[in-house]
Amino acid sequence: MSRFPLEGGCHCGAVRYVLHKPALSVQHCHCERCRKMTGCMFGTGAVVQRDGVTITGEGNLTAYRSSATFPEMFCKTCGCHLFAYEDSEPTLMYVSAATLDGGAHPGHPPDKESHVYMRSKAQWDRTADDLIKYSTTSPDEIITGLQKAELLDRQ
Ligand SMILES: [Zn+2]
Ligand SMILES: [Zn+2]
Repeated sequence: MSRFPLEGGCHCGAVRYVLHKPALSVQHCHCERCRKMTGCMFGTGAVVQRDGVTITGEGNLTAYRSSATFPEMFCKTCGCHLFAYEDSEPTLMYVSAATLDGGAHPGHPPDKESHVYMRSKAQWDRTADDLIKYSTTSPDEIITGLQKAELLDRQ
């Protein structure tokens, strides 16, 4: 297991961060929005406490709202997706955990890592590991405004 604090950052090095506490949970999200935001088969977000992260080079971040309540933060120079926030969750945020230096483990408990939105995965996504898989959201993730609306729709 990793020893804290951990350091991470974008590819060009303009934005760096320190993670002072273990992540609460990690979700690998297979929705189309995450594919379009990251250019990858799925987006990996660690839920962390906002007061447990120190960011340097914050002026080099640019925000894009992928839904009305959900700003996602990218490095202006290299385009790396680093952080995301849900407006209604003032104490929590997402860190793109794969940007930790050296591939460090973000410290979440083993049963707090899952695949979410498996129903929306790419046709050629062959994810078949032993992690928990959810058709849509997991109870451990930050639910965005868009997802809240979708959950209400289903009731
Ligand atoms: Zn960068
Ligand atoms: Zn997603």
